[in-house]
Amino acid sequence: MPLVVVGSVAFDSVETPQASRDRVLGGSAVYFSLAARFFTHVRLVGVVGGDWPAEYTQLLQSQGVDTAALQVVPGAKTFFWRGRYLSNMNDRETLDVQLNVMASFNPVLPEELRRCKFLFLANGSTKMQLDVLSQCVGPMLTVADTMDHWIRNEPKELRELMRRVDGLVLNDSEAKLLAEDENVLRAGRGLLEMGPRFIVIKKGEHGAMFFSKHEMYVLPAYPTERVVDPTGAGDSFAGGMMGYLSEQFDYSPETLKHAMAYGIVAASFTVEDFSVDRLLKITREDVDLRMEEYRRMLTF
Ligand code: AMP
Repeated sequence: MPLVVVGSVAFDSVETPQASRDRVLGGSAVYFSLAARFFTHVRLVGVVGGDWPAEYTQLLQSQGVDTAALQVVPGAKTFFWRGRYLSNMNDRETLDVQLNVMASFNPVLPEELRRCKFLFLANGSTKMQLDVLSQCVGPMLTVADTMDHWIRNEPKELRELMRRVDGLVLNDSEAKLLAEDENVLRAGRGLLEMGPRFIVIKKGEHGAMFFSKHEMYVLPAYPTERVVDPTGAGDSFAGGMMGYLSEQFDYSPETLKHAMAYGIVAASFTVEDFSVDRLLKITREDVDLRMEEYRRMLTF
């Protein structure tokens, strides 16, 4: 079942204590799509400027990502993000964000995409996320991601979004900021009160927590020795999770738990190289093999 994602398509400049990369392929919707494509047909909705190399679009297409709704605005500049990781490779500072063409992005979804059953509103302006949600007719499952930038700058819109989506995915510091509570457990429960049926809190190298009215659990991260660049781990997590749900065409509690595990496995590959390089080198078979290993680690 096709999965629609709306989010940022970006140039990222990344510094880690070991190495750095300038203006590489990134963006929430890009990481999401490349992780979700192992499971389902992904249709990416986004915008780029005239500086966007056509080869990047071809690369996405060659991986089975449908880019028909990736708008190119000639004369404008693509979204740009620069970040630096601290020595623990978990905490990062955002050094620069240039919204550029994203600042005035108001996607108009083609008719076919409006009737999608699975929709992921990846990181991007909350106003834009709400607008896209309003265009969709009868989706089965809608999940959104957000980050500190939008929590601080579009709080009213974010509250409205939370009343209208089924699930919200965000990282632990963002959950604490949004819930105004320093305890992650209370923050997760507090966010549930704001509307969504489930909340997923990503905790970087500590895995992810799931909250719904009836259950709460924590899944550890898949331990990998090779953490080269954590950028996009959260988006790849969401891609693995939503991709699996869309493949199963189900979001029962049992399926959601498996989906969380697939999200964790997808993220564990992303961090093993810069940009989307590692995701491009693996197959569904690699994902399933690692999933099996992860399952064995958790069985006792
Ligand atoms: P993650 O590491 O999963 O949190 O995602 C990092 C990706 O999010 C990078 O590729 C950035 O281009 C993108 N990103 C960073 N800031 C924003 C923002 N304010 N809105 C949308 N995307 C962003």
